[in-house]
Amino acid sequence: MTVRVRIAPSPTGNLHIGTARTAVFNWLYARHQGGKFIIRVEDTDISRSRDEYTDNILKGLEWLGLNWDEGPFFQSQRLDLYRQAVQKLLDKGLAYRCYCTPEELEQMREAQKARNEAPGYDNRHRNLTPEQRETYETEGRKPVIRFIIDGDRQITWNDKVRGKMAWKGSDLGGDMAIARTPEGDEPFGQPLYNLAVVVDDIDMKITHVIRGEDHIANTAKQILLYEALGGEIPEFAHSPLILNPEGRKLSKRDGVTSLDDFKNMGFVPEAIANYMMLLGWTAPDSTQEIFTLEEAAKLFTLDRVNKAGAKFDWDKLDWINSQYLHKMSPEILVDLLIPYWQNAGYEFNPEGDREWLIELTGIIAPSLTRLSDAVAESRLLFGDSITFDEKGQAQIEQEGVKEIFAAILTAIANYPEMTPEDAKEIIKQVTKEKKVKKGFVMKSLRAGLTGELQGPDLIQSWVLLHRRGWDKTRLQLTVDS
Ligand code: GLU
Repeated sequence: MTVRVRIAPSPTGNLHIGTARTAVFNWLYARHQGGKFIIRVEDTDISRSRDEYTDNILKGLEWLGLNWDEGPFFQSQRLDLYRQAVQKLLDKGLAYRCYCTPEELEQMREAQKARNEAPGYDNRHRNLTPEQRETYETEGRKPVIRFIIDGDRQITWNDKVRGKMAWKGSDLGGDMAIARTPEGDEPFGQPLYNLAVVVDDIDMKITHVIRGEDHIANTAKQILLYEALGGEIPEFAHSPLILNPEGRKLSKRDGVTSLDDFKNMGFVPEAIANYMMLLGWTAPDSTQEIFTLEEAAKLFTLDRVNKAGAKFDWDKLDWINSQYLHKMSPEILVDLLIPYWQNAGYEFNPEGDREWLIELTGIIAPSLTRLSDAVAESRLLFGDSITFDEKGQAQIEQEGVKEIFAAILTAIANYPEMTPEDAKEIIKQVTKEKKVKKGFVMKSLRAGLTGELQGPDLIQSWVLLHRRGWDKTRLQLTVDS
């Protein structure tokens, strides 16, 4: 058997982080099994689906490195298939026309609420007589199609993540709508989610349905549809929800929901994919946390997906991102940083200054956690105005610092082309001359150059700054003030 899995996003918004994680799990499983990963865009909800969201979702999956083998298929182009299935269920007497008006359904729900009953359709049109049907038709009522759910049925499956699962038919909200009311003269309207999914999963020979646990109730309903349509029931695996650090479902309120939010915050795709796989999956060696998609694919099995909700941990994501940034060669990393520098308004020529930018990248890379950190980390090397933070200011106000700067400026005049060795030599000379500690000179120099006490390697930065022809008034100003 060839494993065939799918990701089935609805293009009603940008690529959601939960969908991205589900896509990662499906991709890993397909690759581990030597199977196929299929993309199906579930765009039957015309009022909410947009092409730009489809675009965003497909580009996002590609950006993460989740290459697919088949698709993208679009449900909107497969409507005939769903209509045939609805007709088949009607013909077999497994579905029927329900003529209830929205008002009647609302009254029914109100009454259920008043009786403290769970809301659901009470199957009142399941057994209409031909006369009743005729009356509703002549009244001009447009029916939805409902699929019969036997309330006494026990639906069970062996979930690959959650183990034995059982649902009672009576807990599924009554006979399920599978097609909307028709707009015009068609026998029935737009087929609905559960029906379309099952028709597609049968047609696409999906062997494993891996999706979020918010679909568990749908799975119970879908199993009944597989049976009714004569399809082979796939395996199901429900992955845990992504929770915020407080343990509630990650939502808009947490400020990040779409993959773009993470991208804009300066995370690289390798790190996001890596972090996504750890959201709910534990590697056989639980101490290992850094994996490329290919490395994880070698190890990924569904029995190591956890049942418990996966808490989002920003520190871990940051740490993983930094690991990838630190490993990246400056020649590659530089292209990821350039847009951040440009957005910050730093002046440079991406082509003409490339060598210099690469060197700068090499210097700041070890201090980057997110790409966006490059703006602050390289501030001193672009432009000339610096602002002092509290500690930087305190440092330059220390006794003896002005004299140290004056000595550095005198010494540097002898080095039109300062090498790292020259820079160290200057610091050594000044240390000796002023009879202070080397650390004090270094700290003061850093404060004078950057306004802060922390930052990338001082010697390397200083050398690079020198090469770009820095404005020595940086130290001069501090001397004069
Ligand atoms: N379109 C559904 C969603 O975006 C996918 C359901 C499924 O994977 O079966 O949640």
